[in-house]
Amino acid sequence: MNEQWLTFANAIKDLYQKDFVPLHEPSFDETEIDYVTDCVKSGWVSSVGKYVDRFEQELAEFTGVKRAVAVVNGTAALQIALKISGVQPGDEVFMPSLTFVATANAATYLQAVPHFVDVSGITLGLDPEKLEEHIHDIGKMINGQLINKQTNRVIRAVVPMHTFGHPVDLEPLIKMCERYNLVLVEDAAESLGSYYKGKHTGGFGLVGALSFNGNKIMTTGGGGAILTNDDRLADYAKHITTTAKVPHRWAYDHDEIGYNYRLPNINAALGCAQLQKIPAFIAQKRQLTETYESLVNSLDGVSLFKEPITARGNYWLQTLILEPQHNRDNILDFLNDNGVMSRPIWTPINELKPYNKMPKSDLTVTKELKNSLINIPSTPLKVK
Ligand SMILES: *Cc1c(COP(=O)(O)O)cnc(C)c1O
Repeated sequence: MNEQWLTFANAIKDLYQKDFVPLHEPSFDETEIDYVTDCVKSGWVSSVGKYVDRFEQELAEFTGVKRAVAVVNGTAALQIALKISGVQPGDEVFMPSLTFVATANAATYLQAVPHFVDVSGITLGLDPEKLEEHIHDIGKMINGQLINKQTNRVIRAVVPMHTFGHPVDLEPLIKMCERYNLVLVEDAAESLGSYYKGKHTGGFGLVGALSFNGNKIMTTGGGGAILTNDDRLADYAKHITTTAKVPHRWAYDHDEIGYNYRLPNINAALGCAQLQKIPAFIAQKRQLTETYESLVNSLDGVSLFKEPITARGNYWLQTLILEPQHNRDNILDFLNDNGVMSRPIWTPINELKPYNKMPKSDLTVTKELKNSLINIPSTPLKVK
C-alpha cells in the first residue's frame, strides 16, 4: 500500500481525534439519559408506556406517513410488512441481490421465496430497467397475477432497499407494480431522513419498514417500525405484533397466532430522544461527505459515492468506489490495520449458502459492485 492511503487514514483519525475510528457509533447526550431515567423511575420499562405511543406519533409526523407501528427490530418490521401486504407461503418476492441478509430472511420467515434482481450503479438499489427485462424473460400474467414461468409460483411483491440511505429510483418501480399487480414494500431500514422527489422514503409502497439498530442513523438499542398510510393495515400490524390479544380489561383472548414483536417503552424513550436529532445528524453527515470528497481527491482511482439527482439521501454510510486496478481486500486490511474501521458492501445474497439456489435475474452490475464498494467511518461529527 502506498503513501496516499496512509495520508488518507491519518486524516480520518485527525478528523475524529481518535487512534481507532469505528464505522458508526451512536450519538447520545443528556436527552437520552433524561428520557430513559424517566422510564426507569416510573417503572414503565416494558411493553406499555407513554414513549411507545409518542415515538409512533413522532415517526409518523417525521416521515409524513400516516401511521407508524414500533416493533423489536427492523427484520421483524419487514416480516410483518410483507405479511400484512398479503405475501403468502410459496409466493416469490423480488428484491435486490445487494442488500443486508434481513431482507431475504424476512420473506423466508413467511415461507416465501426471495427472487434476486440486479442493482443500478447510480442508486446502488434495485434497477427498474433490469427488473422490467427480467419480467419479460421469466414472467407471464395469468388471471391478473404475475407468474414465474420457470417455477410456476406467484410473484407477489417487490422490496426495494435504499442502500446506505440513498433512495432507489421509485417512480418506474411504482408504475411496474401497477402494471404487473405487484405490491410495493419498501425496506427503508437505512433511509430514515432520506427523500425521493421531495417525499420521505418508506411511504411510497403499501407498507415500509425502518430499523433502529445500534449502527443505523438513529438507534433505540434495537428496534424497528412498520410504516403505512392505510389505517386498517396499521391497526392489524399493531394487533399481530402484540400477540393478537383482543383488548379487554382482564381477559386473555387471542384471535390468531400473533407475535411478541412490540417495542419496549425503554427503547422507545431512546427513540424519542434520537428522532429529534435526525436533522442535525444529517447536516453533520453531509458536511462529512464534503470533507471526505476533498480527502478522496488525492487517492488515485477512487471516488466517493454521491446521491442520485432525484434524491436527497441521509448519507448514513459513506462509500468509496474503487476502480478495478485496486484490490479491495488489501485496502480493507490496510485501513483496518491503520485505525480506520472499514468494511465491504455485503456479499450478494444470492451467493450466501441459504440463498444460492433461489431464482435470480442477470446480476452483472452486482458482480461489478461487490468488489468495488467499501464503507468508511460515518459517525456524524459534531460541528465545533
Ligand atoms: C439493518 C437492516 C435491516 C434489519 O434491521 P434490524 O433492526 O437489524 O433487524 C433490514 N434491512 C436492511 C437493508 C438493513 O440495513
